[in-house]
Amino acid sequence: MKIGVLAVQGAFREHLATLAAIGVEGVAVRLPADLDDVVGLILPGGESTTIRQLIERWGLREPILALARSGAPIFGTCAGMIILSTQIVGGEEPVLPLLHVVVERNAFGRQLDSFETQLAVPVLGDTPVHAIFIRAPIIEAVGPDVDVLARLEDGRIVAVREHNVIATSFHPELTVETRFHRLVATMAAEHANPAEGSGRRPHPTRRSRGES
Ligand code: GLN
Repeated sequence: MKIGVLAVQGAFREHLATLAAIGVEGVAVRLPADLDDVVGLILPGGESTTIRQLIERWGLREPILALARSGAPIFGTCAGMIILSTQIVGGEEPVLPLLHVVVERNAFGRQLDSFETQLAVPVLGDTPVHAIFIRAPIIEAVGPDVDVLARLEDGRIVAVREHNVIATSFHPELTVETRFHRLVATMAAEHANPAEGSGRRPHPTRRSRGES
């Protein structure tokens, strides 16, 4: 089973290393052909304007949308979250509008460029996630099919899931955290072999587990 990591710009090496750490073969995706035998895709953090341009330049947009529509898991971190959002504050065109959220880029402003915090993410268990935010986006509003996976203490949304699409404002790949990648790998395995999985359909349940 291979999981792709979009490798046109940004923190793709760290995602490939996290996949390797959990025993999953990662594929650096630069051209459409690199998507041929992947069963999931990670969109890394970086600079979303650059990633947007390179997705268009290398003809990756349609093949990634097709992969997502097949039910394969797609996981975006930070800039990857922006790339997946259907609405970007300020009116930028969406890139891969798969996640029905309103996202604001650089939402923490210049004063608080980067910060780290312990974040409760109930779907991953009781141990909090050490979350690193770097010029991070925030989710301002979610559509009806979007589960909120984590909020900051002030209530702002920083991790979401809509069916097979997961996104975080922060960077689990920059820490020893592996649970997001394990979740993506489990979803990818179920997508690749629905009969051998837990019996769930490729599109995971909409119901939030742990969200109050
Ligand atoms: N601020 C970046 C953007 O808007 C995202 C930052 C990141 O991915 N660490 O593209």
